[in-house]
Amino acid sequence: MEGKFDVIVIGAGPSGSCAASLLAEKGLKVCLLEKDRFPRQKVCGDGISGQTKKLLEELKIYPEFGGLKRDIYPIKQSIMSSPDGTVMPMDANELDEKSFGFTCPRDVFDEVLLSFASKKGVLFKEGVRVKGIESIDDRLNAVYADFGGRNIRFLSSLTIIANGSGSNLAHQVRKRKINSKDIAIGMRTYFEGVDLQHRCEIHYDKHLLPCYGWLFPISDSIVNVGIAMRVDLLRRSRKSITSHFYKFISENQFVKLRLHKAKPMAAPSAHIMKLGTGAGQNYGSGFLIVGDAGSFVDPINGEGISNALLTGRIAAEVGYKAFEQDNFSKSFLKQYEDRWKEKLAARFRTAKIMQWLLQRPAFVNFNMSKMSKKSQFNLATERPDTIWERLKFFYQIMKG
Ligand SMILES: Cc1cc2nc3c(=O)[nH]c(=O)nc-3n(C[C@H](O)[C@H](O)[C@H](O)COP(=O)(O)OP(=O)(O)OC[C@H]3O[C@@H](n4cnc5c(N)ncnc54)[C@H](O)[C@@H]3O)c2cc1C
Repeated sequence: MEGKFDVIVIGAGPSGSCAASLLAEKGLKVCLLEKDRFPRQKVCGDGISGQTKKLLEELKIYPEFGGLKRDIYPIKQSIMSSPDGTVMPMDANELDEKSFGFTCPRDVFDEVLLSFASKKGVLFKEGVRVKGIESIDDRLNAVYADFGGRNIRFLSSLTIIANGSGSNLAHQVRKRKINSKDIAIGMRTYFEGVDLQHRCEIHYDKHLLPCYGWLFPISDSIVNVGIAMRVDLLRRSRKSITSHFYKFISENQFVKLRLHKAKPMAAPSAHIMKLGTGAGQNYGSGFLIVGDAGSFVDPINGEGISNALLTGRIAAEVGYKAFEQDNFSKSFLKQYEDRWKEKLAARFRTAKIMQWLLQRPAFVNFNMSKMSKKSQFNLATERPDTIWERLKFFYQIMKG
């Protein structure tokens, strides 16, 4: 089981499988370590956005989903509602249909990415829980793990930490505390007996702001129902996430109507999300941190898969350069931080202001009412990044 590799990737979610495939494709000896046995469940909304779909196409992974007609459910419409009940529909007729993504249960989605990685030559080892990383010298890391109660050790020149939002490894290597404002908690389950006809619903319920609750159909009769809340606001509410979840499904005017005849298929499950507002210092001598482990979930819409793929790709590109130049130093690997910041930092910075605004029901009501009257905005593809773009965007909406 033990061994020496060029690269060890820890965690076989989208970020880990993506980074591992790209590095193996370049001819490096890559080992992907995963604590669970695949296929495994992952608490998620199962929403694969248009943005994620585009990245999957660029990475040449998208064709792998071709044979999975049964597990891929195209989204053709979307609606949003505000606390006062205003509804903003985004109709497929008015938008480019391609900009909508699809839904896919995560056990299936992650398995597809993993099998792509295996095809590229990645060695996958499951049931291996990594416990710690130690730098031996400037070209070698030791990765310590537990495999069925046995302590094992791997060696690598580069280690990519991709083990999700619960990652204690990221905390171990960068020793930085994350503020509770930069963490959200999400809860979801599946309901059977409701046909949303390829329509995603996002409900800005006043108890959940600046986050929201969702209904994402995964078939003509099953829907993924969930909520997210920021941890500091959840604590302030003095209620559990479970009680907020049941309040949402029983009291939100739209949700209770949709789920009227539906039956839950399992008890709801929760998981944390590390928001991009807390991202930073995701590199060091011989290691890079990608995806949720590095706090890359979009702070506005809670989408994490696209940034997991994006950071996985940037880490693979910078990591490969490190091999070409035989340089795994902290100063060399800082290029990773510079590159993801070029793409995401402006959005993360303005997200703080957006969150502050979205916490106010009056702001959400006002904007939703303006937006519902102005349908030419392609909200499925527009991603205003800087504060000026965002203000311009809202100004245009308000001008009506
Ligand atoms: C309730 C909820 C709803 C969400 N909905 C959406 C959505 O609809 N769309 C979207 O784009 N994003 C959504 N997200 C975010 C999305 O789930 C994540 O951003 C995405 O899974 C991140 O991928 P990742 O590869 O970084 O981490 P993960 O997918 O979490 O993968 C990490 C992997 O590492 C493994 N691992 C953990 N610890 C160890 C260890 N010590 N040793 C070895 N392996 C380990 C885990 O078993 C796991 O397989 C949601 C999140 C939540 C919580």
